[in-house]
Amino acid sequence: MSDPKNSLDHARSLDAADPLHGFRERFHIPQHDGKDAVYFTGNSLGLQPKGVATILQQEMDDWAHYGVEGHFRAKNPWVSYHEIFSKSLSRIVGAKPSEVVAMGGLTSNLHLLMVSFYRPHGKRVKILCEARPFPSDTYAMSSQIAFHGYDPAEHLVELAPREGEHTLRNEDILAKIEELGDELALVLFGGVNFYTGQAFDMPAITFAGQAVGAVVGFDLAHAAGNLRLDLHAWNVDFACWCSYKYMNSGPGGVAGIFVHERHHAKGLPMFAGWWGHDKEDRFKMERTFKPMPTAEAWQLSNAPVFAMAPHRAALDLFDEAGMEALVKKSAQLTGYLEYVIDDLSATTGTRLEIITPRDPAQRGCQLSVVLHGKGRQLFDALSARGVVADWREPNVIRMAPVPLYNSFEDVYRFGTILKEVIQ
Ligand SMILES: *Cc1c(COP(=O)(O)O)cnc(C)c1O
Repeated sequence: MSDPKNSLDHARSLDAADPLHGFRERFHIPQHDGKDAVYFTGNSLGLQPKGVATILQQEMDDWAHYGVEGHFRAKNPWVSYHEIFSKSLSRIVGAKPSEVVAMGGLTSNLHLLMVSFYRPHGKRVKILCEARPFPSDTYAMSSQIAFHGYDPAEHLVELAPREGEHTLRNEDILAKIEELGDELALVLFGGVNFYTGQAFDMPAITFAGQAVGAVVGFDLAHAAGNLRLDLHAWNVDFACWCSYKYMNSGPGGVAGIFVHERHHAKGLPMFAGWWGHDKEDRFKMERTFKPMPTAEAWQLSNAPVFAMAPHRAALDLFDEAGMEALVKKSAQLTGYLEYVIDDLSATTGTRLEIITPRDPAQRGCQLSVVLHGKGRQLFDALSARGVVADWREPNVIRMAPVPLYNSFEDVYRFGTILKEVIQ
């Protein structure tokens, strides 16, 4: 290799100095030819914490032993199961425990939140989002606009980067909000765009959106467990996320929502269900809905315990590691990947263009790279050598070295495999 930092010795010395290195052993790492694969798709499906099997077994045993009485007699009583996540989630997203709840799925939660927070009226109908949001979000926003009787083609405004640029400039986002002004009902951005890995300036967007009278929400699918978030202090109106990406809680695992306490117990319109009813008299089964005075008011159904149990095992690791330490390592690990990619780009004659912002404050741990002059074959060759990354047509590879379980050695090994494949 051309540079002493792009070496196995250097990578190993970084791992030895990493206070979080021990967490890797607490995950199942997929294998390739008898060795650990280079798993860089924690942004798509996080790996399984080894504690998951035990916690799932506990719920199976409690179900076997207690039947319905498990709602009260299980080790973690099912009747209040969703409550065991609030403290951990509040630390991850920067909220009060009463402002978050683990519930449902991401897209369905997005709809439930828009029922309360997208209330078009008069001139104020438009939703502003970043260009190329995750398709499910586009479908959700468009169908909400249509549901209210408006035309999504006119009222869903997708802000694209400037000609020749891959990511949005914060000043352009703020200017667009200003321009839409009193036509803007809702600003709904990703915290981190899934495709480019760009992290948006959430406090600035929130402030600007609310200043023109709009509501501001974020889809944190790629931000929760990845970035340092402070939703309460930023005064964000609402947010939602899934738990199976950076939060490692298993395929299709339970999602979560944030609703700022300013909006609790205000009689906002909502699609209600019995689990959102005041828990003190939920079992009186009264006809009139009396919402919980917390984010729990948005819950519909009783807790899906088998989807939630892995979430508990996964969040234990976040509680132990702490977001502060995670984002610190994340910046270093992603910086190292950036370094290795730049080194290869300079020495192999294949241009590897990182389209994720270079500024660490504008990204989490994902890097999206355009492989100029190379296509799918190169990606397939990487996969055949044990690199698990993500391919987007026509020539973008997305990689996320995750601080909880990826190592500096993973990054080094990725570099050597990429070099071999390019040559
Ligand atoms: C992953 C992801 C989704 C997936 O939605 P589900 O309802 O969990 O299937 C939606 N939106 C964004 C922004 C995502 O990154």
